[in-house]
Amino acid sequence: MKVAKLGSGHPEIAVVAGVHGDEPCGVRAIERLLDDDPDVSRPVKLIVANEEALERRVRFLDEDLNRAFPGDPDADTHEGRLAAELAAELENCLTFSMHSTQSHAEPFAIVNGLGDRAREICPRLPITAIVDSGPFAAGRLFTAVETIEVECGLQGSETAAENADRLTRAFLTAVGALPGDTVRRDVPVFRLVDRLSKGHAENYEVFVENFTRVDAGEAFAAADGEARTAEEPFYPVLVSPYGYSDVFGYAARRVEVDLAEGTAESATVRD
Ligand SMILES: [Zn+2]
Repeated sequence: MKVAKLGSGHPEIAVVAGVHGDEPCGVRAIERLLDDDPDVSRPVKLIVANEEALERRVRFLDEDLNRAFPGDPDADTHEGRLAAELAAELENCLTFSMHSTQSHAEPFAIVNGLGDRAREICPRLPITAIVDSGPFAAGRLFTAVETIEVECGLQGSETAAENADRLTRAFLTAVGALPGDTVRRDVPVFRLVDRLSKGHAENYEVFVENFTRVDAGEAFAAADGEARTAEEPFYPVLVSPYGYSDVFGYAARRVEVDLAEGTAESATVRD
């Protein structure tokens, strides 16, 4: 794990890259920030998490780090120990953690519930959706540390690296570390409700677009040519043929959340 800092003093905000070793976009964003060394109004901790997995260009060595929290310093796995080390390093930091995916090119945020900070910050990021992990938070970084995760784009793409850079700067601006203003957008909110499991097969296919509604009765995927059909309507999130070993991804519902700051009254006059 590599830890660096912008500015002086004790950081209360952190940017994390490389939780997964096959997602290099965030590492490039952090390297660029360190090269630029901008003047910050508050100190920022910068962390590259799983250097061993990044070196080997694999998601993890022993287990998925983003399912290994809170971890344990004496764990049997590399990621189990790293989870404990990373959680300790991030204690009391609002954390921004960058990922990339095989499922969807447009950036989106993933949060563990829509608390005040998620509602305040997420609409100021250049994202197209907010995903609440709902019942699928177990083991993820945001169960150990207050974290906004972002999916920056397609794994290994140049666009994902550029998006990671833009997202990081928007986050640092939204929390007052970098100067300037951020634009508040109206962003749709989705909540994960189910896993779309897949049995063992040679070939997997996905027929639907992420964040686009699937109707009841619609075939959304296939395993070795055998179609999977939606029992009820849902929105696919993080769905891809080969992104995960045991699931296609997740089924989500669209939820109405008041993303405006302040009270419900002030929200009604928001433009
Ligand atoms: Zn990831």
